[in-house]
Amino acid sequence: MSPRTTRASRTSTAPSPWADELAEAAEATRAQLVGPSFSSRPTDTRPPLEKVFEKLEARGFEVETEGAEYKARCPGHKDANPSWVFREDENGNVLSCCRSHGCSIESVAAGLGLRVRDFFSTEKKTPAQKKAAKATSAKAQAARDSAAAQAANEAARIWERAKPCK
Ligand SMILES: [Zn+2]
Repeated sequence: MSPRTTRASRTSTAPSPWADELAEAAEATRAQLVGPSFSSRPTDTRPPLEKVFEKLEARGFEVETEGAEYKARCPGHKDANPSWVFREDENGNVLSCCRSHGCSIESVAAGLGLRVRDFFSTEKKTPAQKKAAKATSAKAQAARDSAAAQAANEAARIWERAKPCK
């Protein structure tokens, strides 16, 4: 072996000082070719309520707020007056109801450009977490004095009257 060959092979087995730079350049090229979102875009795990609001906004549907509920023109039918009521439940799912035509969730979803599953949270709470959440709210309820409890009862009655069907 000539000294030249030895030197060459030694050089090739040593880590290249430009290895990082080359990897970066390769990544930049890949990103340019396929777009950064192609491989790195995660599934849309935003809260369902956020997706619904985004779609309503994009369609120019105004949303009215009524306590914990929202009201907008129903995406499921040609609605002149807001008759679609929706709210977020304790698990982050969007529950809704068309009060004039009783539109199905499928037609509402289609009208919004969403899938039915977009109305349901991808976050899965364990039974223990659900239990803990319940226990906490029960404790808070017990801590209220009677006046507050009466106000809560009144609020519950209003809620019963106004909650989305189903
Ligand atoms: Zn409807």
